[in-house]
Amino acid sequence: MQNEDPRSTIVAMCHNFYTQGWVSGTGGGMSVRHGDRVYMMPSGVEKEKIRPEDIFVLDLEGKVLEPPTNPDLKLTECASLFFSAYRMRAAGAVMHSHSANLVLATMLAERRDGFLSELEFTEFEMIKGLEGHRLYDVFRLPVIDNAAHEYDLTEQLQEAIRRYPHTCAVAVRNHGVYVWGPTASKTKTHAECIHYLCELMLRMRELGIREHRREA
Ligand SMILES: [Zn+2]
Repeated sequence: MQNEDPRSTIVAMCHNFYTQGWVSGTGGGMSVRHGDRVYMMPSGVEKEKIRPEDIFVLDLEGKVLEPPTNPDLKLTECASLFFSAYRMRAAGAVMHSHSANLVLATMLAERRDGFLSELEFTEFEMIKGLEGHRLYDVFRLPVIDNAAHEYDLTEQLQEAIRRYPHTCAVAVRNHGVYVWGPTASKTKTHAECIHYLCELMLRMRELGIREHRREA
């Protein structure tokens, strides 16, 4: 996937995410870094209809190098959040999901430290899909508070990235999640694993299952 034209990668991934209900209602987004160029979605578009020519090309400072062919399109409000993962984690791609399961899972996160709370996962096979995590490791997904505008989340997201050096994602309460990885392909895998883990957590609550860990 990384050898593909980044525009085609974004289009393919948006279609994939749309079919999973992660980017419906024009929510969510996707961005790919290719060398010193960043490819990013426009704001408020239907993700299942996105075309390669609708995508912005920026430099690493966030300056627009190539706008979309349609002059009415505006850059996503997620830009500063995507750039936070590029700059602080050397990400190769970042996705943003509004998945209903993920939003429900954020409501289960207890506030621990001011704006920040977390969801904790361990001993699920799918943790191994998250880079740097083995089965018995604990994956901690930070959850920050929501804000009226996407770009107002930037400071909180950066603080969560600093405090959780092993995370590849930051969730936003009642909103969704930002997920990144070293490549677009790995970002997709991370996103699939995190959505799967959150769905498992919800199903466990529904079924009244409390214990899933090995005997100490
Ligand atoms: Zn959003």
